[in-house]
Amino acid sequence: MNETQADKALEREDILSMSRKELEEQILLSGEKPFRAGQIYGWLHVRHAESFDDMTNLPKALRKSLGERFRIPVLREVRVLTSQIDGTMKFLFALEDGNVIESVLMRYSYGLSACISSQVGCSMGCRFCASAIGGRVRDLCAGEMIAQVVQMERAAGERIGHVVIMGSGEPLDNYENLVRFLRIMGDPKGECLSLRDITVSTCGIVPNIRALAGEGLPVTLALSLHAPSQEKREKLMPIAKKYPLPQVLDAMKEYYDRTGRRITFEYSCVDGENTSPGDAQMLAELVRGMNCHINLIPVNPVEERSWRRPNRAKIEAFRGMLEKRGISVTIRREMGRDINGACGQLRRGFMTDPERT
Ligand code: SAH
Repeated sequence: MNETQADKALEREDILSMSRKELEEQILLSGEKPFRAGQIYGWLHVRHAESFDDMTNLPKALRKSLGERFRIPVLREVRVLTSQIDGTMKFLFALEDGNVIESVLMRYSYGLSACISSQVGCSMGCRFCASAIGGRVRDLCAGEMIAQVVQMERAAGERIGHVVIMGSGEPLDNYENLVRFLRIMGDPKGECLSLRDITVSTCGIVPNIRALAGEGLPVTLALSLHAPSQEKREKLMPIAKKYPLPQVLDAMKEYYDRTGRRITFEYSCVDGENTSPGDAQMLAELVRGMNCHINLIPVNPVEERSWRRPNRAKIEAFRGMLEKRGISVTIRREMGRDINGACGQLRRGFMTDPERT
């Protein structure tokens, strides 16, 4: 495809982002029989066809007209790294407009779990995060989020049972597309993933935490907490100035009250910043009485930043101090240690590589 052809292709509407109902409406409007919509939807969301030509039980003329009106977002694999230790795969995908994103596929005892991106880059500016360095380029549409899951599933040759939206980007800063993605993923006539097996991770955009609580979508919500006080949190996460800790925690409580889903707090352990005995005490007080789980993540050093992780003994001691106070807490198992750049670093390395193709 040359550049003009590629631009033309992007003018067509992304069919993967459409709900079943929207697709039915479009098909009816174009004068086709209603059952065609079901067939097309099945090709897209059950059989994961990559082109309209693959939809062999549709008349040729319909396949052609679909191809003229719509496009199916397909991601190009730019780089794939596979861990020799545990089989974790990191994918660098090129979108149709040439932007690149990162996705990760991990194998746990309960099956495959996909970590996907929700934006190209991110505008939240968390101090330890590689995705923040170049800022936000654009939001991903629902189809591009679905395509990450579908393409990793194809690469693995196996069904993905869990999806976490913890790649690059802030999902609640791309709210409409996120909710659209969740509804399509949960549709029993399509992707049919249990919403309970999806985790959305946020830095704490209060109005959208509250909005998500009212969507009737039983996904797990994880808050990137990372500090036990407003003062310390602001130092690591600029967004904390806009949405202070008490407001964020209130919104998380509302999320739990309305969905009944236990809350997760992510806590990246940064040496000298947030893992002292005093921090453990403050953290325990902060979450007291909440039905929650704390996930400790040893910070991944990012080349451009000076943060370091505490040694293993310090992190274990911190966990112990929380456990002693009756808090459910785990240290996140590190997957793919041999290919493990920090979140967003595969993309970052690619963007700054003069030899990139
Ligand atoms: N915007 C969402 C998703 C981001 S990535 C959010 O803020 O939750 C998922 C998690 O990885 C977040 O908790 C994020 O703060 C954390 N993270 C980002 N960079 C990291 C790093 N270098 N080391 C450890 N955790 C990191």
